[in-house]
Amino acid sequence: MRLTKDWHTVVPHVMPVTRAPVKRVVTTRSTSLAPRVVILGGGFAGVSTAHELARRCAGVLPVHITLISDQNFYLFTPLLAEATTGAVEAHHVIYPIRPLLCAKLGVEFGEMTVEAIDLERRRVTACHRRSPGHQEIPYDMLVLALGVAPDTTTAPGVEEYALGFKAVGDAYRVRNHVIDQFEAAALTDDPMERRRLLTFVVVGAGHAGTELVAALEELTRGILLRHYSAIPRSAVRLVLVSTAVLPQTATRLAAYAKKELLKRGIHFLPARAAKVSPEGLTLQDGRLIASGSVIWTAGTRVSPLVANLPVRKTKDGRVKVNGYFEVEEFPGVYALGDNAAQVNPHTGGTYVATAQVAVRQGRALAAVIESELTGRPKRSFAIREHAEMVPLSRHTAVADLLGLKLGGVPAWVMWKIVYMFKLPTLAARLRAVFDWTVEMFFQRDVSELVVGGRRNV
Ligand SMILES: Cc1cc2nc3c(=O)[nH]c(=O)nc-3n(C[C@H](O)[C@H](O)[C@H](O)COP(=O)(O)OP(=O)(O)OC[C@H]3O[C@@H](n4cnc5c(N)ncnc54)[C@H](O)[C@@H]3O)c2cc1C
Repeated sequence: MRLTKDWHTVVPHVMPVTRAPVKRVVTTRSTSLAPRVVILGGGFAGVSTAHELARRCAGVLPVHITLISDQNFYLFTPLLAEATTGAVEAHHVIYPIRPLLCAKLGVEFGEMTVEAIDLERRRVTACHRRSPGHQEIPYDMLVLALGVAPDTTTAPGVEEYALGFKAVGDAYRVRNHVIDQFEAAALTDDPMERRRLLTFVVVGAGHAGTELVAALEELTRGILLRHYSAIPRSAVRLVLVSTAVLPQTATRLAAYAKKELLKRGIHFLPARAAKVSPEGLTLQDGRLIASGSVIWTAGTRVSPLVANLPVRKTKDGRVKVNGYFEVEEFPGVYALGDNAAQVNPHTGGTYVATAQVAVRQGRALAAVIESELTGRPKRSFAIREHAEMVPLSRHTAVADLLGLKLGGVPAWVMWKIVYMFKLPTLAARLRAVFDWTVEMFFQRDVSELVVGGRRNV
């Protein structure tokens, strides 16, 4: 069915809005009367929705797609731990959004921070950090894909004394910090101080924490130690603090991952963290782990922008959506990815917050929006979360592929192949393969990255 200019006559499910020609939408002047789909968040969920929607509508449906995100790239988080060890260049785990979506597919992109969402007036307020003014962006359809941020409020001292592990800058920060600790440890004769400097504590054992602690073990004992002859191997200590390893993952896979970490001499403390201080991490039972390096990956929180919306939400602030990603109180508003809670009809629970779920949701949401615009029947989202992979560095991973459980090198090879194909462009794949090949035959770089004369820590 082709759309007429007055597209609301053929789109029964979307509430009409009074429309005046738009003075300015993000970066281009637009007087288009095509329906405006505004997508908030340039992560896995937002980018895959925009990409698939633009692909489906190209040349067939007049749709104005705008993606707003506070960074002009998207981060491939499954490779972040590898960027920390130097197995891949940190630059090779981020992908600019414009070449991916704008030139080829005609998506409008604005590098802006969303400041307010007004669901009644159907408007989003956003601004670029260098621009003085705020921009009001009207929409006909809104997609909430703002993800989650680390929750630094769960224990005192996290904000001040712990490092995070979520953004590409964190890979640099953690890496520089670890190298710096080694440099300081090499200069001290005090064994207690050296032990404190070389004790690395990771709090939280979800995907991020488990992948990170394994990567740190490789970075410290596998790479750095050989350059610091004054430091004995026994001085380096890695501690993972969490109530369980990979709590959201299938039990056998989680058990395998835990066994692998223990085999490598990583201490696992099934405990809750109470406080971070310059002395280290205090546990709820009062024990102190003396350390100059606490990396916090436990707990996430939905952006207050989303958590404060007048819609149905879970206790942790995620927006409840139905099988079509619809926020039922506000027709034309959708949510997906980490900031949404959608029930998986196969399990009765909500989908796990992973990149692969977010990408599949994005593609499915694009199909739902296309159906909305054309009046065709929509398909409800229902997938089985069969495949899961967790890289554990040192050429090891754990994987569950359609019930087939793999560990060690076979899982690692499988992980590399699968993730290589998940990278967005041919150039990105070639860069990753090149990095992986080089790291197999040559020593890794152990220099600290100093930016603008100051250490980037
Ligand atoms: C270290 C780490 C390792 C992981 N490893 C894996 C793995 O191996 N496999 C796996 O499946 N999953 C993994 N995950 C989980 C996976 O990254 C998330 O589930 C996935 O990123 C969710 O996608 P999303 O698009 O919902 O959110 P995100 O990818 O977080 O995207 C949200 C986007 O919104 C933007 N944004 C937020 N607030 C604003 C605002 N106010 N204004 C404008 N823009 C804003 C952000 O900058 C970001 O670009 C890992 C996560 C981490 C942190």
